[in-house]
Amino acid sequence: MSEPESERNDDGRTDGELYLDAASTEPVSRDVIDAMLPFMTDAYANPASVHRAGKTAAQALDAARRSFAANLGARPDDVIFTSGGTESDNLAVKGIALARMERMRRDGVVSDLLLGTSHAESAASGRRPRIVISAVEHPAVAESAAWLERFFGFDVVRVPVDDAARIDLDALKRAMDVASERTALVSVMLANNEVGTIQPVEDVVRIAHAAGVPAHVDAVQAAGQVPIRMREWGVDALSVSGHKFGTPKGLGALLVRGSTPIEPLLSGGGQERGLRSGTQNVAGAVGLAIALDESIAFMREHAAELVASRDRLIQAVLDAVPQARLTGDPRNRLPGHASFIFPGVTGEALLVDLDTRGIECSSGSACAVGRHEIPPTLLAMGLEPSIAKSALRLTFRRPLSDDDIDRTVSAIRRSCTALGLR
Ligand code: PLP
Repeated sequence: MSEPESERNDDGRTDGELYLDAASTEPVSRDVIDAMLPFMTDAYANPASVHRAGKTAAQALDAARRSFAANLGARPDDVIFTSGGTESDNLAVKGIALARMERMRRDGVVSDLLLGTSHAESAASGRRPRIVISAVEHPAVAESAAWLERFFGFDVVRVPVDDAARIDLDALKRAMDVASERTALVSVMLANNEVGTIQPVEDVVRIAHAAGVPAHVDAVQAAGQVPIRMREWGVDALSVSGHKFGTPKGLGALLVRGSTPIEPLLSGGGQERGLRSGTQNVAGAVGLAIALDESIAFMREHAAELVASRDRLIQAVLDAVPQARLTGDPRNRLPGHASFIFPGVTGEALLVDLDTRGIECSSGSACAVGRHEIPPTLLAMGLEPSIAKSALRLTFRRPLSDDDIDRTVSAIRRSCTALGLR
């Protein structure tokens, strides 16, 4: 293993460490902390309380809801504050699928045998409700669909992607199974966490709606980085997570159009339109609104610079390591996302070695806590497991300087050499 290239501080970091793992999480800005603080100290009341202090908190919650919705092209009433992307995805996928299943059963479209009988029996009846997702969804969506399959006998269709992780729209159309009217939901992410590919969600929504099916979009990686117009695109439900754009972790929202059938997953006091019971996190909602606003304002000014620095980094890596290959869509990708494979080394060894050289990055699937699994998106893109294992992801929200790029590329070259890549 190589020597650290700079001295370590007491906290274990070096002065020159470069954080290139923004897709995992982002720091919280001082402005966001300052905006949140009063709602934990002075204006701490429960927004449901009728006294004046409660009203002050309720007004702050309303203002946050309005600003947050406007920045995502939604209406204030669409916003359901949650504890983050995972909860939002679970609520959307399970909540909409179960509400639609109930209606289909009432209308006799799907089998009445679903509950209390074996799934084999309902499968044999050919009338299982269906859920359609892409083959590259985050586990918060993919595992929610698997849960519906396991406990309610849903038929889960995973629509394939091409070698750049772009969804196959013809396969999506076929998956809708229009004639049977049994498709409960389509769920496709806006931007992929592992390889940064942006999906054509407007086309996805058009296909879903033509079949009379609601569409959920996981916009966790995209929010604050690319423009989102939920209502204009016709999206029925959209998930976002605050810590990807600068709030503390554990904050997010599901935006749901009023007419979308959806069952709550939490029972309780009926907050958030009855869809997410529990006393609201007023400080958190304020933080979400400010952080999203800041991110969008930053991108308005710096998106072109960010994209240009991403492309310089990509080219420099490809020039420095002949074995390296870019993964994901070369053009239609997140502005601060560069992902590669380095056949001949493992991504895990590479990122551990890069860490010793002051470069903090990831192999791709950040949310697979403590497990170093083969990035599933790369497998769905058709890569052999031995190649997919060599994935490395460099993600950033601020444009990289030429010096940042030189340091990163030089560290990657040295790590590859140290790991025996010739
Ligand atoms: N969806 C996507 C695409 C993600 O990348 C992530 C996290 O990385 C999540 C959902 C889960 O979000 P959270 O960490 O807020 O639970």
